[in-house]
Amino acid sequence: MVTMPKAQGGLGIKNLHLHNKAMMANLTAKLLSTGTGPCFTWLANWYLQDTIPLHPSTTDSAFWKPIMKLIHVVQQTTRCIPQDGSRTSFWHDNWTGLGRLNDALPILFTYAQDQQCTVKSQKLNGNWDIKLHSPLSHLAEEQLQALMTELLNHQAQAQLQQDTRLMNVTNKTTTTRDYYHLFCDRGMRWIPAKWIWRSAIPHRHKVFLWLAFRRRLNTKDNMANKQWGNDSGCDQCPALESFEHISLHCRQASWVWEKLNIAHTAARTNDLVEFVESTISGKDSKTWPLLLAICFLQLWYARNNRIFNNRSTNRQALFGNINQTLDLWATRSIKLAPELVKWKQKFLLD
Ligand SMILES: [Zn+2]
Repeated sequence: MVTMPKAQGGLGIKNLHLHNKAMMANLTAKLLSTGTGPCFTWLANWYLQDTIPLHPSTTDSAFWKPIMKLIHVVQQTTRCIPQDGSRTSFWHDNWTGLGRLNDALPILFTYAQDQQCTVKSQKLNGNWDIKLHSPLSHLAEEQLQALMTELLNHQAQAQLQQDTRLMNVTNKTTTTRDYYHLFCDRGMRWIPAKWIWRSAIPHRHKVFLWLAFRRRLNTKDNMANKQWGNDSGCDQCPALESFEHISLHCRQASWVWEKLNIAHTAARTNDLVEFVESTISGKDSKTWPLLLAICFLQLWYARNNRIFNNRSTNRQALFGNINQTLDLWATRSIKLAPELVKWKQKFLLD
């Protein structure tokens, strides 16, 4: 959880093992492209002559083995635009309109003389010279026909293009960062990430928001779940005390949302993300989530003050606290300050 990227709901602390692996994957991707630098050219000329092995061999060096293990990963995550084709795998890379040829033409693939050959090795004097075991079966003949049709089209297009390898996800050349995200990926974007990791928000408030959106604060319902007590009810009303209750439905919350004219929306939903998203209006969309975050924060402080210090926060004090926090956050961002301070008008007492 902690090492997951922020965009997926983690705290974004780097996992060094995965980061190292991502660096190796990016090196491997460079090695499998041309024009990426003399050292890569030197290594490729040394190790990848006419063939791109899919697995390390027992004689590979300690330096080369980890790279060999990542070739498959790089091939599966990228597509190629070969120029001379010396670093593109004929059968395993995605470089034709048919996709990966070992997948698209599985029967013909079994006839290949070298299943790990490069694109370049299948050309002779500029013409295609696919090296296959003969005689071909009827089905293999059909697939060869399909392949030749595709390759002739392909040749015509390839004239203009550079020899490159592009990441499937980003459609750009690979980076270590792409691979790091890929290795960490749980396939989910965590929506609140774009609201809570903003530079205008002080660090301790970021952590509060992360816990709040992750439902990790010690609200009474969470404490009852952890068996730290058996009272999970709100101290002010007959309801379960969840963070959603405190921040959307409880008495103090209704003061705040009425002021912002969104009490109706707050009453209807029990989901913080939905609440923020459904109330964002176009023109103030940069600071609106910050304003709501400040309200969540001060509603939580008011609740803690009541429970731990036995001090209730009245309407005037709550609005005063919200305005003070708006001032504090505004000092941290010159760009957002004017818009943040403007929200203070909303909390003037009537
Ligand atoms: Zn309540």
